Amino acid sequence: MFDNLSAKFASAFSSLRAKGRLKSGDISEIADQIKAALIESDVALDVAASFAERITERSLDRLEEVNRGTNPSQAIFTIVNEELTAILGGNSRRITLAKKPPTVIMLTGLQGAGKTSLAGKLALHLKKEGNTPLLVASDLQRPNAVTQLQTVGESINVPVFAPEPGNGVGDPVAVAKAGLKFAQEKFHNIVIVDTAGRLGVDQELMREAIRIRDAVSPDELLFVVDAMVGQDAVRTATAFQEGVGFDGVVLTKLDGDARGGAALSILEKTGKPILFASTGEKVEDFDIFYPDRMASRILGMGDIQTLAEQAKRAMDGATTSRLEEKFAKGEDFTLTDFLAQLQAMKNMGSMSKMLAMLPGAGAIKKQIENFDDNELIRTQAIVESMTPAERNDPKLLNGSRRARIAKGSGRQVSEVNNLVDRFSAAQKMMKQMRSGKGIPGLPGMPAMGGMGGPGMGLPAPMQQKVTPKKKSKSGNPAKRAAEEA
Ligand code: GDP
Repeated sequence: MFDNLSAKFASAFSSLRAKGRLKSGDISEIADQIKAALIESDVALDVAASFAERITERSLDRLEEVNRGTNPSQAIFTIVNEELTAILGGNSRRITLAKKPPTVIMLTGLQGAGKTSLAGKLALHLKKEGNTPLLVASDLQRPNAVTQLQTVGESINVPVFAPEPGNGVGDPVAVAKAGLKFAQEKFHNIVIVDTAGRLGVDQELMREAIRIRDAVSPDELLFVVDAMVGQDAVRTATAFQEGVGFDGVVLTKLDGDARGGAALSILEKTGKPILFASTGEKVEDFDIFYPDRMASRILGMGDIQTLAEQAKRAMDGATTSRLEEKFAKGEDFTLTDFLAQLQAMKNMGSMSKMLAMLPGAGAIKKQIENFDDNELIRTQAIVESMTPAERNDPKLLNGSRRARIAKGSGRQVSEVNNLVDRFSAAQKMMKQMRSGKGIPGLPGMPAMGGMGGPGMGLPAPMQQKVTPKKKSKSGNPAKRAAEEA
């Protein structure tokens, strides 16, 4: 969502880099560019102005020292990175768990902000961390909110307390209270209360939220807001803060074409941190909000930490340790391992979202958008049509075996050849990368610095748009083995 802002920052820094030693005029210039870029990204005017002022002040204060260094523009870049991290929340805090369970989390916000979806996402996230959440259906206003919560609860195997049908029927305060009591009796350590929004901020909404708040005394009252609404998000946040008050913010729809203004203004305007981000309609499209990682993405440095965590999460523990061990021991990465990777990648969700986390992703935005997720499925079909022996030793793959695999997977022989060639290239690169720099748990993904290179450091199927520099011509496995050696 920060595409435009990232592009503007990149161009501002590329002209700064060209300058070498910096003068105070250069600092004012980049501060002006940053301010303009922020305003264009829908950041509140005063927030953008004070941000630019801080950059100017800190840079001018250190100008002499900056110019003594070998890379003056990098020093300014570091200041901008620190300020961006700070404005996004600095050292973000996590959910506060109550000393005496259950911890009560109440969600509030406008209708359509994504509260009900978020309730499911948060429950799943907390459950994966070993908690036993209960969802409470106190949105008795929005049509189908109760059934929606029940459906999501069922899909993630989290119980939903929903004694009232909703659609205007039932007392949300009584449901919230009874839900809390139910959780205590059934030893749920976390209760997530979904409440009703309205289309706009109104008194009735605030009154209802206040009554629920007072009935359940939440440990965390989270304000859920759609990031796509830009400046309106900040206005709504301010109204909710004055009305009900809240402890933290959840930004939703970060997958959309929001320009980022909400994320960059909300802390400064409300003093409350962003705790979570929702990035899609699926229940897994949910992230803890890390200000430093977000700043890094805005500045085009990618978000390798999140990517690595997702990779680790997507693979089951046994696969991860087996691959890590192999990697450390210097054993060959085989097509069997590759198949495990492919399955994990499918678990990780959209490839475009993953690729967008790579450093320099902005420069290959078009290719990323055009990435065909079905390529993974096609590749998997080919590998699954191989025998275990073939997967462990692709050199066995002579012409007739390749023809059989093509037939079995419903693909062309040329596709099988292509995959085997790309796999061999990736395998070779794995050997080169075995210096411990790779991402644990996803051994095909080390060395992502040089996005432009033929390997890109990505597993073979992800190199679909990239032509290998030196492609083996020989169809004869023995001859090609000799070439590779
Ligand atoms: P509520 O009225 O606040 O409970 O909102 P819902 O949870 O029903 O969400 C409203 C709509 O936004 C639904 O169609 C959701 O699928 C969708 N939605 C929620 N969060 C996200 C998100 O992060 N990204 C996208 N693209 N859609 C979302």
